[in-house]
Amino acid sequence: AWGAALAAATGPGATSDGHRVPLLANIGGPRDVAAALEHGAEGVGLYRTEFLFLDRASAPSMEEQEAAYREVLNAFPGGRVVVRTLDAGADKPLAFLPPGGDEPNPALGERGLRLFRTHPEIMDTQLTALARAASGAPSRVEVMAPMVAGVEEAAWFAAACGAAGLPSAGVMVEIPSAALRASDLAATVDFLSLGTNDLAQYAFAADRQVGALAALHDPWQPALLDLVALAAEGAGEHGKPCGVCGEAAADPALACVLVGLGVTSLSMSPPALPAVRAALSRHSREECVLAARAARGTASAAEARAAARSRLPGLA
Ligand code: PEP
Ligand code: MG
Repeated sequence: AWGAALAAATGPGATSDGHRVPLLANIGGPRDVAAALEHGAEGVGLYRTEFLFLDRASAPSMEEQEAAYREVLNAFPGGRVVVRTLDAGADKPLAFLPPGGDEPNPALGERGLRLFRTHPEIMDTQLTALARAASGAPSRVEVMAPMVAGVEEAAWFAAACGAAGLPSAGVMVEIPSAALRASDLAATVDFLSLGTNDLAQYAFAADRQVGALAALHDPWQPALLDLVALAAEGAGEHGKPCGVCGEAAADPALACVLVGLGVTSLSMSPPALPAVRAALSRHSREECVLAARAARGTASAAEARAAARSRLPGLA
């Protein structure tokens, strides 16, 4: 019984009927690895590499990047480590690389993958550093691009990853156009990962840095659940994984709903992992599907939350 209790507290993520949902950690670098391991992360679902690039006068060298990536990859033997390429701009400004033009709306500006179109040398250095760190690593490295708007960008990124010798390339779904065309994206790359923080920002035209608009960033909004469902369905058409790495995954009830919508893995800040693991272990996949259906059947975030919770009896 102790073994079962311990597995439920720290073991791999799964619903009560054994449907596996890997539970992964969002980290900002090697210093977050200890917390991820302590909370039983099965790997990393979002390594935000921009912390290597922020607050400095020049880009980190290939060697510096390789060392940081290797340290994280070595910490998860047998697991996956999903590394996001530099996501600069808007809420993550770079001191050494300000936007080229005047940007009245930085959230809609030259950010994320877009920055690599004008500065491909930064991307090439990062991808090469990742490929070098991955060679001989005990974990599987998967690389993904942020702020991808469509298939042409996804194909360009996947080709660059292939040229660098990386085994797996994915894209984040955080712009509504990407969710609407998730099937095309999934045909082009190896996996999708939903960034629900930005997806809410762009779906509701509500700057995530404006606190007065917090209600519009509520991930329980049925319109956001619809976009998540579209992305998961599109990925499923091609048999490709579709995870969530936005804050939505850290809410135990919403995590069950996301699984019910077809999401295949959940990544969150490490302290959120135990409660999400417990919530999943107390509900069957079918209960998750019914909770998701009930939530999407409502017309507001508050109603969606209530409808889902009433169908998830095992929530604490
Ligand atoms: C997101 O947008 O949901 C996400 C995970 O990325 P970030 O919060 O770093 O923009
Ligand atoms: Mg984002």
